[in-house]
Amino acid sequence: MIKKFIRRVFRLDDRSGPLVIPFGKHGVKRESLSNGARKVCEGLQEAGFSAYVVGGAVRDLLLEVQPKDFDVATNALPEDVHRLFRRSRLIGRRFKLVHVMFGSETIEVSTFRAGAAAEGLGGQHATETDEHGRVLRDNVYGNREQDAARRDFSINALYYDPSDQSILDFHHGLRDLKKKTVSIIGDPRARFREDPVRMLRAARFAAKLEFKIDERTRAPIADMAPLIENVPAARLFDEMLKLLLSGHAASCVRELREAGLHHGLLPMLDVILEQPMGERFVMSALAETDERIRAGKSVSPAFLFAALLWHEVLAALKKEEAHGMRPVPALHAAMDAVLDLQTDKLAIPRRFTAVMKEIWLLQPRFEQRSGKRPYSLVGNERFRAAYDFLLLRCSSGECPKELSAWWERFQHASPDERDEMLMPAEAGERRPRKRRRRPARGHAEGEAGGKPPAPQAE
Ligand code: ATP
Ligand code: MG
Repeated sequence: MIKKFIRRVFRLDDRSGPLVIPFGKHGVKRESLSNGARKVCEGLQEAGFSAYVVGGAVRDLLLEVQPKDFDVATNALPEDVHRLFRRSRLIGRRFKLVHVMFGSETIEVSTFRAGAAAEGLGGQHATETDEHGRVLRDNVYGNREQDAARRDFSINALYYDPSDQSILDFHHGLRDLKKKTVSIIGDPRARFREDPVRMLRAARFAAKLEFKIDERTRAPIADMAPLIENVPAARLFDEMLKLLLSGHAASCVRELREAGLHHGLLPMLDVILEQPMGERFVMSALAETDERIRAGKSVSPAFLFAALLWHEVLAALKKEEAHGMRPVPALHAAMDAVLDLQTDKLAIPRRFTAVMKEIWLLQPRFEQRSGKRPYSLVGNERFRAAYDFLLLRCSSGECPKELSAWWERFQHASPDERDEMLMPAEAGERRPRKRRRRPARGHAEGEAGGKPPAPQAE
């Protein structure tokens, strides 16, 4: 009886330990790790520490997907890790981590730590929370079990030991992988309160892996979704970027909508998605991004955010014009209004917003197809992005396909062909400063003057 008690208190009882899954049962060879991940684990183990590959990499290897990167967890302190590897640096203010560099590869090494749940395990409780229970600081080192318990989902809490090629499974991650289920570790409400971003992560993993979020995990999300609003804007932006660049952005956004999570994210996304034309526009932007990523091509986050917010800019533009503002200043005012509101919620860095504005500002210029203007537009350094954006607008029905077809031909035409393609100049075009009366809505083909695109989505 006493022995049993002691074993339980010191967590020596086998039943409280992890399942140890030998190589024969999972088949992940140490050779499938990156060179860096193996060297870091070997280096740490030779120095007497324990070290495991953890998180997404183990999950992906089990699913036979190429991991994006490799993370290592160890009982060595960050300073020990830094000392052991010449090319490494200590990073992180909230929690110290070490980045170890091998050629172009960076391995993130974290010391086992205890999350907020460590309280119950007798660990010293040094977490600090805001008034909603969101964890602000959780800088307590812990043991392996605690490290597993503070992770988000069972499928992300598998520990691979390259020395014997075994996997430690603390929370039935392997079972959930087989069941294609995203299941949060511990009490869902408590875990989402600690860090509301986990709700977004659940949606991202479900979409990316084509898994289901289990009922227990999903149930409180609708209720708790508003907590996303307390997450700092910069963190939200990072998580959104991961989601949008996952190669599964379209299905992630669908997941988010189903879970009712899109409201707090891009404050306008829900409005946009509820308009048929806005939804078509956003969804085709996301589908195209996914295609590019899956084909190994680069994508520009600025382009993507420009697309996500475009219909909101159009709506703001319409308002400004209704107040009698001239088209170009109205477009500037609309962009600023949308970005101001947006960056409050989601800190889109300035390097992105600058490009977003350039893309938006070039849109009216596609309607100018006479004189020298088409030549200068084709020569603009943002022409490619702006043209791709025009394609989206045309394919979502916002402007006639004939317009994008014209530009497709024009940019590839010979100088003679280009001259022939030009539209006749309209009266007043040489005096763009003079204001002409024009209809408030609709796209008159070949209309001159920097007319911003008319908002059509209602
Ligand atoms: P990806 O393949 O998208 O990188 P990942 O699972 O590796 O997926 P990361 O964001 O790189 O995700 O995080 C690495 C690991 O850290 C996760 O697998 C998880 O164990 C843990 N983790 C990350 N974010 C959280 C969080 N918000 N709460 C708890 N654990 C987290
Ligand atoms: Mg990762």
